[in-house]
Amino acid sequence: MSAVNETLIRDVVAEVLGRLGNNGATTTAKPAAAPSASVPKSESCGCGTRKVASAPALRGKFGVFATAEEACEAAQEAFLQLKEKGIAARRKIEEIVKAMAEKNAGPWGTIEYNETKIGRLDHKIAKLGLIKLVPGVDWLRPDARSGDHGITLEEYTPFGVVGAITPSTHSIPTLSGNIVNICAAGNSVVFNAHPSAAKCAAVAVRAYNEAIYRETGIENIACIIEKPSLDSFNALCKNEFTRLLLVTGGPMVVKAAMQTGKRAICAGPGNPPVFVDDTCCATRAAKAIISGASFDNNLLCIGEKQVFVLDHVADKLMQKMSENGAVKLNAAQVEKLTQAAFTITPGQGGGCAHAHTNKDFIGKDTSVLAQAAGINIPSGTQLLFGETDAMHPFVQEEQMMPMLPIVRVKSVEEGIERSLQSEHNYKHTAIIHSHDVENITAMARALDTTLFVKNGPSPAGLGLGGEGYLSFSIATPTGEGITNPRTFTRVRRCVMVDNLRIY
Ligand code: NAD
Repeated sequence: MSAVNETLIRDVVAEVLGRLGNNGATTTAKPAAAPSASVPKSESCGCGTRKVASAPALRGKFGVFATAEEACEAAQEAFLQLKEKGIAARRKIEEIVKAMAEKNAGPWGTIEYNETKIGRLDHKIAKLGLIKLVPGVDWLRPDARSGDHGITLEEYTPFGVVGAITPSTHSIPTLSGNIVNICAAGNSVVFNAHPSAAKCAAVAVRAYNEAIYRETGIENIACIIEKPSLDSFNALCKNEFTRLLLVTGGPMVVKAAMQTGKRAICAGPGNPPVFVDDTCCATRAAKAIISGASFDNNLLCIGEKQVFVLDHVADKLMQKMSENGAVKLNAAQVEKLTQAAFTITPGQGGGCAHAHTNKDFIGKDTSVLAQAAGINIPSGTQLLFGETDAMHPFVQEEQMMPMLPIVRVKSVEEGIERSLQSEHNYKHTAIIHSHDVENITAMARALDTTLFVKNGPSPAGLGLGGEGYLSFSIATPTGEGITNPRTFTRVRRCVMVDNLRIY
């Protein structure tokens, strides 16, 4: 018997044993293509291509693992399988994830909403329907140089296993978009989801893996740690197979990822300001602001979080916002809501007071906020707004609620200055409503954000009404921008000296 056949038999036996040990959980998926056992294996040669023990315990789990170690081993094995199966398998994975996210948008949006209890069900569903706008394999066109000395090719090649951290605010959408981008580039991925949005994430991971295994024979291309914790985060970051991190979340996780010593692509927090000058169309600005700030109850990191408006157009803007369905709170109502929505700690030794957002209000409907403010509002109201000063907690905190503070400013310079201050140097997103090209340019230069949207709602920056592609992971402090398959590649150069140039 040849060595090849022995390997094949060993793998088939291991797979069968793994499946028997999984309480019948594998009954739904049968590979139409060659099963993973028949994938030719690479020999061990360094971390990127190193083989794993391929224990039967890694089989039949469809990506859902108890520990980071198991998940990383399985993902490493899947990375090698994907390498063998090539670009066609990457395309298949992209196609499967995009189609399934859209097809399951209703049920998956619902389980995510029921688990997290934040945001809006209709928008949770809508976000899953958008995964088709994430770029894919075609994004990875190689760069070529052709000259007297031959041809040089630079290819975008994978790293191996990517460790990905996802937020509570869009668990399945972030995970789905991340799988498309990461696997289109030839990598596999292990997720540590937010603990309050981990069950729904595991449902999607299992379903994706079942379909991917059925169609390609590749097992565990996207893995998840079933009960994520800080310990599993640390174990994932430390694991020898984890080559790269993708972190989507707030300031704490960005800091933690940067301290791991691994390269981290960080999609960090935002607090997007909007500046409105007197050259804008007030109706268009009001409609855009309402639609951006109310989307998923303002959970989006790109969502409009505070508005600075020139004093002499403030009343007109607010009038247009009221005419288009937003409800204005008076000063007493804003104050009442502030007391409920923030815990304010007085500053020490004459320092500034610190406001901490009350989690019970994050991503909640306007009806919940209105009740706390002591106002009755029409059902279906999308957004509340009210006038505040520039240092108000609603302005300074990334509050993620459908309540927008409006601040009057005396000049364009003050509007830009206050926008810059309230963005806190996150370099994330800023929005302007203006037809004055000098004001637009001045704000773009001063804010220096990753996304800068002019005369539209914030989601236009992700191709939703503006030009461009979508990702739910916008790498801000580390600078990769709106992530795409190239973000997860190593650039490798291949040089042919003096030949292959055809002219
Ligand atoms: P979060 O920071 O509480 O959690 C995000 C992820 O990080 C979760 O998986 C969580 O378990 C983990 N985490 C948190 N603190 C950690 C720590 N110290 N060590 C290890 N892991 C840790 O954020 P959230 O409330 O789930 O999501 C909202 C935040 O994410 C906002 O700040 C928002 O701006 C940001 N966000 C950014 C983007 C982007 O593309 N830039 C996209 C979505 C959300």
